[in-house]
Amino acid sequence: MTHRIRSDELTQRVSAMFVAAGTSPERAHTVAANLVLANLSGHDSHGVGMAPRYVDAIAEGRLQPNASVRVQLDSGMLLGLDGQGGYGQVVGEQAMHLAFERVRQHGACIMALAHAHHLGRIGHFAEMAVAQGWVSLHFVSVFSRPVVAPYHGGDGRFGTNPCCIGIPLGSGDAVREPFVLDFATSRVAQGKMRVAHNEGRRVPEGYLIDEHGHPTTDPGVVVVPQSNGRYGALMTFGDHKGFGMAVACELLGGALTGAGTWHQEPDARRAVFNGMLTILIDPTRLGTQASFASEALAFVDWLRQSPPAPGTDGVLLAGEPERAARAARGQAGIDIDDTTWAELEGAAQRVHHVF
Ligand code: NAD
Repeated sequence: MTHRIRSDELTQRVSAMFVAAGTSPERAHTVAANLVLANLSGHDSHGVGMAPRYVDAIAEGRLQPNASVRVQLDSGMLLGLDGQGGYGQVVGEQAMHLAFERVRQHGACIMALAHAHHLGRIGHFAEMAVAQGWVSLHFVSVFSRPVVAPYHGGDGRFGTNPCCIGIPLGSGDAVREPFVLDFATSRVAQGKMRVAHNEGRRVPEGYLIDEHGHPTTDPGVVVVPQSNGRYGALMTFGDHKGFGMAVACELLGGALTGAGTWHQEPDARRAVFNGMLTILIDPTRLGTQASFASEALAFVDWLRQSPPAPGTDGVLLAGEPERAARAARGQAGIDIDDTTWAELEGAAQRVHHVF
């Protein structure tokens, strides 16, 4: 069973729950709208299903519901920020706006954000930047239960460390929808394994190892503790290359930003922290704007001329699936599965609220 609900009503309900958990109404709305946009974009793993976890993280005293970003370093195009445990959706947007001021002054910004609670869908921040006509690169570390195994390693050692690249396409009259590549470095999202486990489904080979390090198709290995009390792990995408990318995200998003890296035994705490290194570039200030715009369009047009491979719908560019999902779900409404709905009701009860 699923609950179909319009995005504005879902935003209002989730927002009210965050207010009941001690969040200011403005912040609660920002976080709820961000989660609902993830659902609308087709990424239910980063949608309102995260809200119960946020409520628990507030109760743990680790998510600070009304915290704002603090400037640690402000030096030309370099910006060092501390999210102070605030909602990632709030401190992440604050951080991007501060970085935007530096781009306007200097043509580029390198922004390090440490200690943000879960930033959600990283593509949201790239979309903010490409709307200004800027290139936006993000390397993100996850500080939470380590669910992803190193290449040829036998257990989980780090998080799903996402990477995101936003690139505006064209300019002036010939502007197109942007390229927004936004992905976890695990082969598949942890949230998708929970859904598969709840539905009693197996998953394809190459996604998972069990608690002994053997390949498995049982998603339960990363959802419930196994025979030895430990979990299995997700594998990285692209074998050693995805593994290298995941490590780079931990080193840049974690170590370089001041957020820290994961090197401890797993625990059961619910809070999820992210560190994010962001690099913003204004192509007009780099002096290549005209050729950048025309060459980028020429290349993507060239890609689109590739004939559809048999059995496929043809070439898509990163960002297109999310925009298509927004159009469809914006019309039809968002489907929330029974388990997630019950979790939302349970979380609301814990803060003496009715979802
Ligand atoms: P995914 O595997 O669905 O990949 C998404 C990317 O691939 C998007 O850029 C999409 O436009 C592109 N894409 C999808 N199909 C395509 C096709 N046929 N052709 C061309 N491009 C295509 O996403 P994911 O790895 O499951 O990540 C989902 C979300 O989770 C992301 O928004 C990510 O930022 C987020 N995330 C957040 C955290 C965190 O801690 N904050 C951690 C991990 C992931």
